Amino acid sequence: MGKGQKVCPECNAVNGARAYQCKVCDYAFPNKHGRIRYSKRPVRDWRELKQGDCVRVVGGSGSYYLNPHTGERTYMSSKGKYKVHTVTYNGILAYGIGKNNTGCEFIYMGEHEKSSLCDNMYNAPHKLIRINTPRR
Ligand SMILES: [Zn+2]
Repeated sequence: MGKGQKVCPECNAVNGARAYQCKVCDYAFPNKHGRIRYSKRPVRDWRELKQGDCVRVVGGSGSYYLNPHTGERTYMSSKGKYKVHTVTYNGILAYGIGKNNTGCEFIYMGEHEKSSLCDNMYNAPHKLIRINTPRR
């Protein structure tokens, strides 16, 4: 291995020494203070999120209502920061930790499909970005 490189402990990919996240598997390298920084790329595998992990739900993603007259989409879920509580087979149960989204919300992550609940509703996976746990 050359100087200025480091190996990812998760997948053994060689990364630049200053990379803060593995380019192959998104493993987050702690810095010399032991802190982790996440990239602004969307989470690739939401099933690997664990209880206590924090994510940001990107606006304009996830389940929506399709206006049959205008074709406009109204997104159902509030964007913002969430703390993962439980990962289920088709989504994530999470607690809002932002200013405008407190309380528990189900973040759907399953297939993009028409909702069985009512007409013009579509279930669609949300776009998530990993964030650091906020310090309190
Ligand atoms: Zn890796």
